[in-house]
Amino acid sequence: MKPCVLSIKHLQKNYHDENGELTAIQDVSFDVYDGEFISIVGPSGCGKSTLLSILASIDTKSKGNIKYNKDNIILGYMLQSDFLFPWRTILENCLLGLEINKTLNDERKQKVIKLLKTYGLEDFINSYPDSLSGGMKQRVALIRTLAINPDILLLDEAFSALDFQTRSVLADDVYKIIKREGKTAIMVTHNLSEAITMSDRIIVLTKRPSVVKKIYKVNLTNKSTPINNRKCPEFNNYYDKIWRDLDVHL
Ligand code: ADP
Repeated sequence: MKPCVLSIKHLQKNYHDENGELTAIQDVSFDVYDGEFISIVGPSGCGKSTLLSILASIDTKSKGNIKYNKDNIILGYMLQSDFLFPWRTILENCLLGLEINKTLNDERKQKVIKLLKTYGLEDFINSYPDSLSGGMKQRVALIRTLAINPDILLLDEAFSALDFQTRSVLADDVYKIIKREGKTAIMVTHNLSEAITMSDRIIVLTKRPSVVKKIYKVNLTNKSTPINNRKCPEFNNYYDKIWRDLDVHL
């Protein structure tokens, strides 16, 4: 069994505003193991993004425990928007995190260049973001995230700004890169196909105030890459079950 890298116990999150208190997350517990790809799904507004923000210390928890397996854990955060600076080249954008951390040196810079070359961006290293397609910009955003050598990657609806085809190809790409680099990933998505085809486990949350409704271990026959995984015989069964768990009403 791989080591547990993150343990979340009885997490609760309350927001306060002029209308009083709103409990977004009631009681969420789960563990994440080294190298796992975890997806979090649940009805809109159930606290998925809040959960990731708390994991990344951008937001604070109200109750519960979050324990990483080491101090000074490095987290990479990838969002729906690529947030590339238009006035910086692709390489300069990818070096930004290292500059901010004050850990940029020649060795790390060469590693980033190698990542860009390995993942099909060699010809764009000195170009500006404007000359790239949406899918390529998200790939750059992933490499920028990987440049800081994160222990865990947090992906918040990272592909949802893209059209269906680009989204599918990029998800395939991102999955391969994450697996090849041996990273642990936690992804929030409302796209069940993405969750089923990319994940080792899927955490299903109830509507707000959320608790864990179910945890699925995804077992696919002849599992390969996300696009091919749609053809696995178990895919529809997982889709139907999780769709029913979400209990969506208009
Ligand atoms: P999801 O990602 O599952 O769609 P969110 O995590 O964005 O849900 O939000 C969960 C709930 O918390 C929503 O009802 C949202 O309105 C509320 N919420 C999120 N951020 C804040 C905030 N800063 N202040 C008050 N309420 C918030």
